[in-house]
Amino acid sequence: MFERSGFHFFTFRGIALAVSPWYLLLMAFYAFGPMMRAGSGGAGHAFLGGVSAVLAITVSLIVHEFGHGFVAKFYRLNPSILLHGFGGLCTHEIASSDKDDALIVFAGPAVQLVFAGLVVLLSTFVLPLINLGVASGLVASFMSTLWFFSVFWALLNLFLPIWPLDGGQLFHLILRRLMPEERARNIALRVSIFLLIPLAILAFLKAGIFLAILLGYILFYNFQLLNSGQDLAGRASNARAAQAPASAFQAELLEDAERALADQDFREAYRVCHQLRSTGRMPDKMLSQIWEILAVSAVQMERYEEAQSYLERAPNTAAVRQAREAASAHLG
Ligand SMILES: [Zn+2]
Repeated sequence: MFERSGFHFFTFRGIALAVSPWYLLLMAFYAFGPMMRAGSGGAGHAFLGGVSAVLAITVSLIVHEFGHGFVAKFYRLNPSILLHGFGGLCTHEIASSDKDDALIVFAGPAVQLVFAGLVVLLSTFVLPLINLGVASGLVASFMSTLWFFSVFWALLNLFLPIWPLDGGQLFHLILRRLMPEERARNIALRVSIFLLIPLAILAFLKAGIFLAILLGYILFYNFQLLNSGQDLAGRASNARAAQAPASAFQAELLEDAERALADQDFREAYRVCHQLRSTGRMPDKMLSQIWEILAVSAVQMERYEEAQSYLERAPNTAAVRQAREAASAHLG
C-alpha cells in the first residue's frame, strides 16, 4: 500500500533507515507552510519554528520505528525502516509466531512513550539549568513538539484498531487467539473500515483535505484487502512470497550493487544493498546475494562487528569465506 523504497539515510546497528520522496515533500510542506502564512514580518521566525517541528516529528518517528526494529532484530528478522508519506514502516521477515509479532508491534509505541517521558524529564529538570540564550524559545518549542507528538503518535498507533496501524495489527493478533484466522481477519478489517468512514468524513469537515485523502486511501486499501482474502499475518503466504519473482526495480538495484562491488566501490555497494533491502519482499536467492555483498563490503569498510550478522546469513562462497577470515582476524 505504501511506497516501498527511498533514499538510504543511515544505518544504525545493522538496521538501515531510508526516507521516501513523499516524506521529504511532506516535511518541506510543514517546514515552509508556517513561513508562507506568516507574511514578511515574522517569516524568519516562523520558518525556524517549522523546521524545529519537522525535526522533532522526524526524531520521534525514528525512535518509534527503531522500537519495532530492535525487537525484530532480536528475533533475527532483518528489519529495515522507511519513513514515508504516512509516517514510518518497519519491514522485516515474517515472524515465526504471533507472540513475536505482537512484541515487535507493541515495541514501537512503547519505546516512543518511554522516550516522551524522558523528554519531559529533561525539559523539566535539566533544560532550566542551561543558559541557551536566544535559542531557548526554539529549544523549548522543539522539546514540547517532541514529547507531545510522541505521546500522540504512540497512543494513536496503539489504541486505534485500524489496519495496518500498530493497533490494527495487535487487534488482529488478539482476535486470532479467539477464533480461526478467516474470521479474525474479516472482523479486524470490518472494524477498521467501520472506524475509518466517520474519521474520513470528520477529517474532511474539520481537518482539511490532506488528512481526508490519507484516510480515504487507507479505507480503500482495507476494502481491497477484505475482498482479496489475502492473509494478514503473512505466515501462510510466507513460502509463496519466497518463490515470487523480484521486481524489475529490485533486479536493477542488485545489478547496481554487483557493479559497484566489481568496481571495488564498497561504500556504494553497501548503500545500494540497504536500499534494496528496504523494497520489501524478495526471492530467497536475491536475499542471499544481498547478504554476500553486504558481508564483503562491510568487511572492506572495516565494519567488522556489523559484518558478522551478514556473514552468518551469506552463502558459503569463496568471497564470503575470505571476508569471514578477515573479520575473525580483526575481532580476535
Ligand atoms: Zn508502529
